[in-house]
Formats: sequence, structure tokens, C-alpha cells
Amino acid sequence: MKRITILGATGSIGQNTLDLIRRDRDAYQVVALTGGRNIAQLARDAMEFGAEIAVTARDDLLDDLRAALSGSAVRAAAGAGAVAEAGARPADWVMSAIVGAAGLPPGLAALEQGATLALANKETLVAAGPLVMETAARHGARILPVDSEHSAIFQALIGEDIGAVRRVVITASGGAFRDWPLDALAKASLEQASTHPNWNMGQRITIDSASMFNKALEVIEAREFFGLDPAQIEVLVHPESLVHALVGFCDGALLAHVGPHDMRHAIGYALNWPERRPLPVDALDLAAIGQLNFRAPDPARYPALGLAREVMEMRGLSGAVFNAAKERALDHFIAGRIGFLDMSDVVEEVLARLSAENGLIDAGITLDSVTRLDHLSRRCADAVVQEQCKKTG
Ligand code: NAD
Ligand code: MG
Repeated sequence: MKRITILGATGSIGQNTLDLIRRDRDAYQVVALTGGRNIAQLARDAMEFGAEIAVTARDDLLDDLRAALSGSAVRAAAGAGAVAEAGARPADWVMSAIVGAAGLPPGLAALEQGATLALANKETLVAAGPLVMETAARHGARILPVDSEHSAIFQALIGEDIGAVRRVVITASGGAFRDWPLDALAKASLEQASTHPNWNMGQRITIDSASMFNKALEVIEAREFFGLDPAQIEVLVHPESLVHALVGFCDGALLAHVGPHDMRHAIGYALNWPERRPLPVDALDLAAIGQLNFRAPDPARYPALGLAREVMEMRGLSGAVFNAAKERALDHFIAGRIGFLDMSDVVEEVLARLSAENGLIDAGITLDSVTRLDHLSRRCADAVVQEQCKKTG
């Protein structure tokens, strides 16, 4: 039996993971499930799967979780420390599906105990790529990508020499506003930004898809995971989202990974690796689809992509700054304090201010330094937003 833990079990990726486990119950033993404020879902799943422990990230909800689990053998715990401890519990396979930088400590804990980490939480690699890869290597732990583009690249590279790779092409749907006139973007509403043309995902990654901050994070994620040179990573708008990524080799071959919009493929691939097993994913009818379209991303529409390039040049802790500033800008957009286009302005300003401070971004990458810069970047983003709000009244 494979012992598994799911960090972020109540979210979109977490629920898709449980869907696969449910279809083959006897093959898995669930160790820990973690969630946030959706206590009813967390308790229901923990009891259904007989988890050893259910953990909510919210300290204030411990009593609610205990009450929801009463009468069952599942233990309850709460708080960020308990989430990290859940990652440290002995398990063979840990799904990292928390949204945001909060996924880093439990992901590192899972690697430190030598578990295979199925990584949906791209923020982990953006904020602390070198630390995460080095921790995995030191403990003989494996990381398997779950982001669909990175799973696609990983699969295209099997049996290949990374030295023979000339480029990787990450596709992007273009998000909710890909066909909007540029001057309408400033007024885009939260509801409009929260609707994805192709994928059904959590709200935050859906808005990040509209702004292409998601793709910006994915470019950095690809650089950290595959050890590529930034110039080797391209982004291509592909409105159908059926080709997830392509890998180009030195002999001119370009291998594409094509599949439906169903995250259970990438999750199931990581779950069954190194084998391939049947998954409940529809076969594509390419004749019915007829055609696939591609176009270059417009830098004016998607400033986040340019910022990702700057971050890759800066190196050091700039990824932690970029991610934290983006998370805070997104919070402010969701709260209605700033407009859709202001998000990239805020992130750009935070990067400029913190990179101007001597020695801040060049410090060594440890969990402590990443956490410190994460907090500093969030405070800086808040200050930038406050200044903006004062200016516009
Ligand atoms: P979601 O919002 O649906 O779920 C997030 C999960 O994280 C929930 O269980 C929530 O309770 C938990 N959580 C939120 N804040 C937390 C905190 N501070 N501490 C601990 N737990 C917390 O998100 P999602 O769409 O499932 O995405 C999860 C991750 O996977 C993200 O990093 C996202 O970028 C990545 N990802 C998602 C998809 C997708 O299809 N949804 C695809 C590729 C990558
Ligand atoms: Mg993706």
C-alpha cells in the first residue's frame, strides 16, 4: 500500500487527487489531509479515507474540526506548524497542493523525510527553487511536477539527454481577457477575471491566468525544475489549451504533449510514476476539434511575462519577492482596492524597491531568508497600494 498525504486536500487539485484515490482505495493508505476554512469537507474526506490526522491551517478552527471529527478515529490539529508537521509524517507520496508560499514549509518537510513530492504548488519553486532542489537531492527525495505544462515537459524528456534540448515551449490559454481590447482591461471586474475559458481551477490561479502571472510563475518554475537557461524557455498563446507544452531538440524535433483539460492526467501520472496506468481522462477526438491555434503573447497585454524575465536575471531571493508581491497584489485586487492592471505595477514597484536595497536579494536562500523576504515584500506591496490609493483618492 502506498502511504499518501495531501497538502491542500480541500482545493481543486486536492479533490481531483482524492477522486483518483477513491477509484483504487485498496492501493492507498491516507496518512494526513490538510485544508483551510472548509472544515466540513476536510472532516468528511478524512473520515471517508480513514486518515490518521486532519489538519486545518486556521488556528481558530481547531474546535470546529474536532467537533466535525468527533466519534471517528481521526486526530485533529490546526495552525501553520501543524501543516508542516503533516508534511513530515512518514509517507511515500505527498501531494503539494496548497495555494501560495504557505506550501513551502510542508513541502520541504516532505522532502526532508525522503518522500516523493508531487508538486502542484509552483510557488515553492519560484520562491525557493535552489533550496528545494538541493533539499531533495540531499535526502534522496524525488519531485514530480503536477503543473500540466511541467508534467508535459517531464514526459517529453523521458529517455532524452537534457543536453540535447534546445528549447521548451510552455503554452498559455491567454486567460479570460485574451480577446479584450487593451483599454478595457483596467476596468475588468473580479468576477470576469475569475472565469477561465478552458480550465476549472481555484479562484487565485484563475485570476493569475487572466493576468498571465500564472505563466510567469511557470516560466520560473521550469527554469528551476529542469535547470534550463531562461533564453531556452518560450511562452506561446494557444487558446484551445490542448497542447500543454513542447520540447525542441538539437536535431529540430519538436515533441508536443496533447491532452484534454483534465488535471487528473498530470496528477495520475505523478501518482503512478514510473508506470503508466489507465486514468479516467477522455480520449481527444482531434478530427472533431479540427484545428489548433497558436500566437505569440503580446508583451503590452501581459507585463507579468517581462517581470518573470527580470526575476530570472536577478536570481537570488528575487523569486520570493516576486511571488509574495504578486500574492499581496492579488489579495488587494480581490478586495477591490486596486484594478486588474495595477497588479503588475505593484509587483514591478516592489521588485524595484527591494532590489535597490543592498544585499537583500543576494542573501543566501534558506527557509528563514525566504520567509523574511516574503514578509518584507508583502509589507512593501501594502505600502505601494496605500500610496496608489492616496494618489487616486
Ligand atoms: P484551491 O484554492 O482550490 O485550493 C487551495 C488549497 O490550499 C485548499 O485546500 C486550501 O484550504 C489550502 N490553503 C489555502 N491557503 C492556505 C494556507 N495559508 N496554509 C495552508 N493551506 C492553505 O487551489 P488549487 O487551484 O487547487 O491550486 C493549488 C496549487 O496548485 C496552486 O499552487 C496552483 O497554482 C497549483 N495548480 C493548480 C492547478 C488547478 O488546476 N487547479 C493546475 C496547476 C497548478
Ligand atoms: Mg499550469
